[in-house]
Amino acid sequence: LIQRALLSLLFVACTGNVTRIKALHVPEGSTDTRDHPIAARVHQAVALGDLRIDDDFPGGAFVAAAQVQGGVEITVAPENSPVNDSAWFAFRIQSATPREVKVTLRYTGGTHRYDPKLSADGEHWTTLDKNALTVAADKTRATMTLTLSGAPLYVAAQEVLTQDGFQPWLMELARHPFVARASIGKSVAGRDIDAVHVREGDTARDYLIVLGRQHPPEVTGSLALMAFVEALCGNGERAQAFRQRYETIVIPLINPDGVADGHWRHNLHGVDLNRDWAFFRQPETRAVRDALLALPKDRVAFAVDFHSTFKDVFYVLPDDAAPSPLAQDWIAAVAARLPSYQYRVQAVTTDVPAASIWLNRTFAVPAVTYEVGDETQRARLKEIAGAAADELMRLLLARR
Ligand SMILES: [Zn+2]
Repeated sequence: LIQRALLSLLFVACTGNVTRIKALHVPEGSTDTRDHPIAARVHQAVALGDLRIDDDFPGGAFVAAAQVQGGVEITVAPENSPVNDSAWFAFRIQSATPREVKVTLRYTGGTHRYDPKLSADGEHWTTLDKNALTVAADKTRATMTLTLSGAPLYVAAQEVLTQDGFQPWLMELARHPFVARASIGKSVAGRDIDAVHVREGDTARDYLIVLGRQHPPEVTGSLALMAFVEALCGNGERAQAFRQRYETIVIPLINPDGVADGHWRHNLHGVDLNRDWAFFRQPETRAVRDALLALPKDRVAFAVDFHSTFKDVFYVLPDDAAPSPLAQDWIAAVAARLPSYQYRVQAVTTDVPAASIWLNRTFAVPAVTYEVGDETQRARLKEIAGAAADELMRLLLARR
């Protein structure tokens, strides 16, 4: 069993210089992927004076709401511990009449991370004005001033994008004659794990693997994955040629239960799925593994696993583990195309049971963890992901 309190990382500067940087913290015990008990998510509605606060929608999550002097306090807690400090919250708030209200998020088991996002309909989101937010020095509390119209207002850590939210996108993709949908298995709660196959005609012989959303709050990773896949499905000559040579298998939402219940990191068994890729104790990782092992092993060319973190980062395998410089060539090509793109490249150690390591070892291919910043501007992250898809198609078409 791999139980490392610290995951050491090498830092590869964009210039190619390799320097050791400070170790990244991995909570002790968070790499134990045996089932752990979690706090059952009780979706609730609370009436406080003329206010109604609820999390009775997919992705909704808070543990308590109470009236305090000057406003309302909402308690936020993780599904279980230890867990990465990615404090997700999502609720709806409504007042009987239009007014301002002060809402304090009280974090237990973690600290404030995400700039609150607001929506009237749960689909279109804006970021709360920075002047309307005060974060305590120790980040265990964040107080926001909300302007209520009398209609419900969604307030969430990130845009709420659950399995329901993926359905219109999947349906739209499946209108292409070269896109086929499938379910590759079930989550702990019995939700389908959706897959999309993109291939044109019957000449495709090589494979690209695209994975996403092992970690529930990582919505920006999902937004990038969607833009990336849309570029693969584009009308241009390059995309068409790519689809004729390469089949892409996309598994966009590996942890639908954690997303539905507003988890900070884990599945319904309290496990970080991206630490289960040596053990396969969880049904979600087993389903993805089995779907990928059904591909002809020596025909897989490349793999990308989408995530989110504080900044835009590409995690690559160290040079001695990667079978080709294709990953570095790809990132350099994206950077050359977007001169003001701020990003880092980091080489991971290979003893962490993450998807990218398993993909590299199983298929002997470059496997890149594509991390999108939590607050990277949405139009920008889509532009970057579209360019990244285009450059990867160019490089893979030029291969051999
Ligand atoms: Zn992640």
